Amino acid sequence: MILCIHNFPNRIAGLRFEWAWQNPKISVRLKMYDWQKKKTENGVQFQIRVLERMLNVPPWNKLPLTIQWLRSEYKIPLVPPLHMPIALGPIEEPSEIGDTVTSRETNCTLCHTTVSEDNNIYCVHNQCTFHLICLADKWVSKTDILPVSGTCPKCGTPQLWGEMVRFRNRLSKSKSDIPSQHWSDQLSQK
Ligand SMILES: [Zn+2]
Ligand SMILES: [Zn+2]
Repeated sequence: MILCIHNFPNRIAGLRFEWAWQNPKISVRLKMYDWQKKKTENGVQFQIRVLERMLNVPPWNKLPLTIQWLRSEYKIPLVPPLHMPIALGPIEEPSEIGDTVTSRETNCTLCHTTVSEDNNIYCVHNQCTFHLICLADKWVSKTDILPVSGTCPKCGTPQLWGEMVRFRNRLSKSKSDIPSQHWSDQLSQK
């Protein structure tokens, strides 16, 4: 294994991605492109060409994915969308950022009313507190349904929406095992 794509929002999204990557000629999202293997291309280079295309077309280009090269000697140039980091080295377990801070604010930085367990989201750096809807409204562009990234309105650090959602899920998972309403449900209720 030389490369790993991770941070899919769920298992199904990951499996679909994997299937399309292996079947670009029949995938609805990919079959319109030219997938003849070039004479100059080896198998890995072909796979990377498919991958680069996938990362730059819907629905995958909106996901907060991380491209991780496990072995630097096999690294091949590849241009993903700006919000997808390219990492190098073995995959590490996410650190438990939330555990060190004991008190988070209970009011939304944007509208100043109380947040609750099922409508909150925090900036990953300083745990500035927001309502999901308030921050999504601020960050979502006119053409997108979901926000991708933005600057924390309170502390000014750049944030990836996907990272904030994972952070939030980790916090709520550590408190209880009852699945809360999925955050995307709240966005679609608008
Ligand atoms: Zn609010
Ligand atoms: Zn912040």
